[in-house]
Amino acid sequence: MTSKDQPLNRVYSQIGTTVFTVMSSLAAENDAINLGQGFPDVDGPLDIREEAARRVVDGPNQYPPMTGIPELRQAVADHDRRFYGLEYDWQSEVIVTSGATEALGDCLMALLNPGDEAIILEPFYDCYLPQIEQTGARAKAVSLVPPDWSLPLEALEAAFSEHTKLIVLNSPMNPASKVFTRDELQAIADLLVKYDAYAICDEVYEHLIFDGREHISLATLPGMRERCLRIGSAGKTFSLTGWKVGYVSGPRALTSVVAKVHQFATFTTVPALQYAVALGLNQGDDYYRELARDLEQRRDFLKTTLADIGLPVLPCEGTYFMTADISRFGFNGSDYDFCKHITINAKVAAVPTSVFYHPGTPNVPNTLVRFCFCKRQDVMEEAARRLTACFG
Ligand code: PMP
Ligand code: GLN
Repeated sequence: MTSKDQPLNRVYSQIGTTVFTVMSSLAAENDAINLGQGFPDVDGPLDIREEAARRVVDGPNQYPPMTGIPELRQAVADHDRRFYGLEYDWQSEVIVTSGATEALGDCLMALLNPGDEAIILEPFYDCYLPQIEQTGARAKAVSLVPPDWSLPLEALEAAFSEHTKLIVLNSPMNPASKVFTRDELQAIADLLVKYDAYAICDEVYEHLIFDGREHISLATLPGMRERCLRIGSAGKTFSLTGWKVGYVSGPRALTSVVAKVHQFATFTTVPALQYAVALGLNQGDDYYRELARDLEQRRDFLKTTLADIGLPVLPCEGTYFMTADISRFGFNGSDYDFCKHITINAKVAAVPTSVFYHPGTPNVPNTLVRFCFCKRQDVMEEAARRLTACFG
């Protein structure tokens, strides 16, 4: 309450600080290696960063067009055609945002009304729930089933109702590291048609995918283009998470309203960064292949390292993250306690998976811990040494 006893916003006054900030602060206080919050410790390509620097010096530095500079919107449309065969009109069907986080908020606000229902698959990325609830809509969570995070089709169908407006689909999925299969996507597509609903497709990890898997955008399935808003992030695709440049592509009927939200959320995004990201998106296929291959090696290294100290990991098909199962590790406490314990005592930070669940979900798994592997090999080796020294 304020001194005037006026209640503040019902959603944001009730929630805590995001786990990423909490764990990163605890890591910094304890001088711990941060395998919690997902950010690479090597910055993305030099030519992209040099382009940004040059544009800051030479300009333009004033407000760029509201939906993004033409060069970047064209690059996004070209990217979507090159990788997925999706055709979007860059002028009316692509919007540049200040990060995927803004894009998600814009898309949810553009589609949801009070009383609507939005389906989310848990464990889900933490901003989805407050962003949905702030619109007055209700989030209905469907739990994927570990260890392979399979999609329970009956539970999914049961979650749909006449009030369902949309599903938020994150593939490759954070924190589960799951890549949805064509069959799973088809099952979702069938329900979207049956209930006349939309999908907000959070595809920020679209290029961080392993073992020769293919990222399938839901928008490419028959009839889905008109129902899907596709979100990407330069932060992930170019290892520049602090830049916060995102993009949305979708059918004009939807993007025209998303643009209305964006115009009053941020209006626009740093022009120098937009030029640099346009340069990035136009890189050859080799860049994208190498990005995934490099990350795959880091994944394998951390997987072996964790296994060596007695922490088995769940399947990891994409993203920056892998999930370790602490249930047979002899630790007495929850996943949250474990993460605090290792941050303070082993000086290695991680993130508990239970925070990515809806507060109303019964029987949330509490023995799963997310580790980030987009780190230098020497950093992960040191993390392994510290965990081994702590646990013996
Ligand atoms: N969606 C998911 C699944 C994420 O993990 C993240 C985290 N970075 C975002 C969206 C937000 O991306 P951005 O940093 O571009 O806002
Ligand atoms: N997406 C990052 C993660 O999952 C965190 C982003 C943030 O801190 N907002 O770790």
